[in-house]
Amino acid sequence: MRKVVRTIGVDVGGTAIKLGLVQGTRVLKQQTLSTKRFSSSPKRLEGGLIHAIRSLIDEAGGKVSAVGIGIPGLVIYPEGIVQTCANLPGWDRVPLRARLQRRLGLPVLVDNDVNLMTLAEWRIGAGRGVKNLVCMTLGTGVGGGFVINGVLYRSRLGPSAEIGHVAVGEAGPRCSCGGRACLERYVGNRAILASVRSRIAEGVPSKIPELAGYQLNRITPEMIDEACVRGDRLARQTWEEAGRKIGLVLSKVVNLLSPDRIVIGGGLAKAGHWLFDPIRETVRARAMRQVAGVPIVPAKLGSSAGLIGAALLAGDAK
Ligand SMILES: [Zn+2]
Repeated sequence: MRKVVRTIGVDVGGTAIKLGLVQGTRVLKQQTLSTKRFSSSPKRLEGGLIHAIRSLIDEAGGKVSAVGIGIPGLVIYPEGIVQTCANLPGWDRVPLRARLQRRLGLPVLVDNDVNLMTLAEWRIGAGRGVKNLVCMTLGTGVGGGFVINGVLYRSRLGPSAEIGHVAVGEAGPRCSCGGRACLERYVGNRAILASVRSRIAEGVPSKIPELAGYQLNRITPEMIDEACVRGDRLARQTWEEAGRKIGLVLSKVVNLLSPDRIVIGGGLAKAGHWLFDPIRETVRARAMRQVAGVPIVPAKLGSSAGLIGAALLAGDAK
């Protein structure tokens, strides 16, 4: 009889920490904690993770083989040393893997969250069956992950496949990464909303203010999507411009790697064809013609991709 392997996947996000007990690719139990409760220091987050993981192990009757954890920051793999953690203070070369492993008495693997989303989409999602895959996530941050020749690509120093920090021009706004004119500064959640608000303030006619109850700070990406459906020009133009910038950067990635498929996920990808059409058109127009036809498809696993990827990573633990 085949041994039943259960693992725990953890996805640490900016607002929520998701934990799941996973068997194969099935999530048996899931739990969500507020990141805010544990965000004051790495020690506090560690304590919260240990408590939550132990209670999931108890619920599983102790039968858990390993734990995988996705962190929204720079992680040295396989050592599991967290160099930075997005929007959380105090994360400076924290040996998270070693500490958790010691306290839990179980194998623990720690990786970047977008790498784990890439792993999940590649193994069981929209990237299934290909050898070379580019995954991209569009949200507050703009991230990327590469599968090259059937292996999830990782660098020695931490940053890898940082599509959001590829510059789209020579001059432009400064970025927290130290660069300038990074893609994320134009198509990240904050940048998109700021640009919509400023155009409305300039007097550009739009249905978006009405959808937001005339409170511009309440505008969400979903309202822009809704306005697109209603024929709003500003809304359509917003995704058109974002799509062209994303497409320009992806055409460079396509020329460099010639992936078999590109998968795009994250909250902003819900815009659907309003965003995907200009991305595809730009890649077709700007990448080398032999590789410009690469399929560009939406991610399949939604917001649980990170958790599933973390559990899959744990399944690889020796
Ligand atoms: Zn940057």
